[in-house]
Amino acid sequence: MSHRATFLLTGLALVLLAGCGSPEYYPDPNLTRRTQFSHVRVGLAIDVPEAIVSIDSPFRIFTYPDPGERPIAGIKRSLKNSVIRPTANGIQIGNHEFGTDALRIKPNKPAMLVFHGARYEGDLVVIRKNASQLDFINRVTLDDYIASVVGAEMPASWPLEALKAQAVASRSYAMYMRKQRMQAGLNYDVLATVSDQAYGGTASATANTRRAAADTHDRVIKHRRRLFKTYFHSTCGGHTENVEDIFRDPPLAALGGTVCGFCTDSPRYTWSTEVRKIDIQQRLTQAGFGVGPITGVRVDQRGIGEHVKRLAVAHTGGTLYLSGDQFRKAVGTRELFSTRFSVSGNGAVLTFNGNGFGHGVGMCQYGAKKMAEKRTHVLILKYYYSGVTLEKLHSRDFR
Ligand SMILES: [Zn+2]
Repeated sequence: MSHRATFLLTGLALVLLAGCGSPEYYPDPNLTRRTQFSHVRVGLAIDVPEAIVSIDSPFRIFTYPDPGERPIAGIKRSLKNSVIRPTANGIQIGNHEFGTDALRIKPNKPAMLVFHGARYEGDLVVIRKNASQLDFINRVTLDDYIASVVGAEMPASWPLEALKAQAVASRSYAMYMRKQRMQAGLNYDVLATVSDQAYGGTASATANTRRAAADTHDRVIKHRRRLFKTYFHSTCGGHTENVEDIFRDPPLAALGGTVCGFCTDSPRYTWSTEVRKIDIQQRLTQAGFGVGPITGVRVDQRGIGEHVKRLAVAHTGGTLYLSGDQFRKAVGTRELFSTRFSVSGNGAVLTFNGNGFGHGVGMCQYGAKKMAEKRTHVLILKYYYSGVTLEKLHSRDFR
């Protein structure tokens, strides 16, 4: 039997398998019932005119989606800093044009994909939106993705049980987001930026983060058997916060505020920042909150964990009320490290005295680090996400 015939037979078998039984959601059209939990689609660049890509080994190109795994081209050379861009009728890779709206580039060896200078495991999916925009998606195993995210979101030198707690939280977050993006009809499950979770490819993966991913393989946390948005942050400052008091999310017992007391070793447990009123005015205006010269800033409401729920900004044109999270993001998350702060000062400069780093919802990472000296990742997760169970991923999670 020739290789060609083998490809065809395998393709038919997979198509038949996917076609029988009740309709199922498949997050990735290339994934089968058996493998649907093993991969994730990470949006590296969405709606962009082009990208610079290297493939450091021979590679193959497949149409996408293609459950049959039949390559349309086999390239025996590597690809060096080549531009991939859309054309009127297809996708151009270097000097070659492919008359298709979507394709998958599969390096013949692991970790040979370089996208805008960063190295990635897995394949690169290129989807043509129109004649001027492409989506670039890294299709990678969930374990490789989690190993990278854990090292980017938490120091890889931290205790293994803390890394494992992070691995489960990050996997749960990614799988929850996959469901949301599937329902929205998007081409990716998660974005590679901190708007979802930091992911920069192999650079942040270490032996320990790979072990944390492998040891917790396919485990997620659920509340009443459902995935939820497993928020986490660096340092709560003494008490985590109810999700509904920080974001526009509905209340959820698993994301309720809880006393922490484990994160006092964090360098951001206490902090103090001075910001000029004129800078606050400018940054609020830039963020879309038009205000006149500022006369004062006052905390109006606090959440259960003392994080600012609502803030009143008095200015010459009136009073602006906004959430602590909106204010922090507008002024700058590297100056106001958290929303757990008080405001003082009568002159041109305001002083913010605060505790913690991040939004304060869900797992406190510095708390997890301290707890990991004596407790397992399961106990850490159950502490910060009240009432959850650790379970395997299941196809009903995506319905
Ligand atoms: Zn804490």
